[in-house]
Amino acid sequence: MFETLGNKLQDILEKVGHEKALTEDQVKATMREIRMALLEADVNFGVAKDFVAKVSAQAVGQKLSGSLDAGQTVIKLVHDELVEMLGGDKAEPTLVEGGRNVWFMVGLQGAGKTTSTGKLASLYKKQGKRILLVAADTQRPAARDQLEVLARQVGVPVLKVEDGEAPSSIRSRIDAQLAQQPADLVIVDTAGRLQIDEALMGELAALSGELKPTETLLVVDAMTGQEALNVARAFDERVRVSGLIMTKLDGDARGGAALSARSVTGKPIYFAGVSEKLSGLEPFYPDRIAGRILGMGDVMGLIERAEQADIKAMDAKKAGEFDLDDLLLQLRQIRRMGPIADLIKLIPGMSRALPEGFTIEDKQIQRIDAMISAMTLEERRNPKIVGASRRERIARGSGHDVQDVNKLLKMHEQMKEMMKMLQKMSEGEAACLCPR
Ligand code: GDP
Repeated sequence: MFETLGNKLQDILEKVGHEKALTEDQVKATMREIRMALLEADVNFGVAKDFVAKVSAQAVGQKLSGSLDAGQTVIKLVHDELVEMLGGDKAEPTLVEGGRNVWFMVGLQGAGKTTSTGKLASLYKKQGKRILLVAADTQRPAARDQLEVLARQVGVPVLKVEDGEAPSSIRSRIDAQLAQQPADLVIVDTAGRLQIDEALMGELAALSGELKPTETLLVVDAMTGQEALNVARAFDERVRVSGLIMTKLDGDARGGAALSARSVTGKPIYFAGVSEKLSGLEPFYPDRIAGRILGMGDVMGLIERAEQADIKAMDAKKAGEFDLDDLLLQLRQIRRMGPIADLIKLIPGMSRALPEGFTIEDKQIQRIDAMISAMTLEERRNPKIVGASRRERIARGSGHDVQDVNKLLKMHEQMKEMMKMLQKMSEGEAACLCPR
């Protein structure tokens, strides 16, 4: 996400140079380019104009502080304004401990409403909240079934409305269900249409009036660009929207909708959808995203992914006896954090250091996994015994060449050496992939 803008901005800002002063001409030329870059990323025209005006006003006459040169000063100004443009502080929907929390999910059909409902249930269940999902599309049984499937995957109860069921009946059935099985959070997945539709809006307004949601989350598809923001205005007029979930940012290199959303709609982005999977929902942190756009990396994001994937520290004592099972375990842990190419981008300075189109195939990890899985327990514990005939057997058993097995064993040897070195360097502290 945001690759278009990120690459452009980084090119532009690199050109500013390292002089100790910032000239007016330099500021003007840079701002013109930044405005173009924003427009190319499909940022709303007014928002782009505003952005550049604010940064210019601060850059012209800016006294360079002792430690920052011209380039660094402009980067800082652009970074801070990007954070503002993305909404400033991180915002999240209110969840009152021990209170009544009813979240209403609205949006056009196909925006990712049902998927996001499942993702939210999964996220908050992990935080120990008791969830009740309500499949409230009174016209499309298939939509209700879709939520039921997700609810089952997450392991939370779901209440399905009947065809044409009246809002008052839906409310009393929710109340009855909660009396039997209390929940900390009720998430209501409502009906969607392909376009803004007056009948639907009336229906949603009636249901909203009855259920009195504490949050109304509008799910918008980032890939639809500025149109997503028109949709937001239309929904806000009828069912007051409190925050946005911007989906499919994984497929949207430009990111114009996400970049303009706060300024155009006045609503915070609560979450970003970054994959089809249940785990693919991230809280939206303006400062971290600004950092990613400018290629500064997102160390906090990396740490959180590691925490979510439950990456465990390796026992310090084991570093010296790092065997193939340990290698496999660590690779599997990394895979749980998501595609490796995505992870690398979170490391400060790495997004620009990599060649264009660089990817590390997750397949490579799968291949290693297959080869180690084809070994006996004894071979994994003590790779030294893996001679020529065993190598051949492992290659055959895992569908690889002997050369691949050779490479794997060599890589393991090198990693083992590295582990030992790390252990010495950290003077007894755990040498591991843990985020500390
Ligand atoms: P709804 O009609 O608004 O309920 O939309 P769905 O939840 O059925 O989602 C429509 C399609 O978008 C499905 O194929 C989802 O898997 C996909 N989708 C939803 N959110 C995301 C996302 O953040 N990233 C990607 N890549 N796909 C998503």
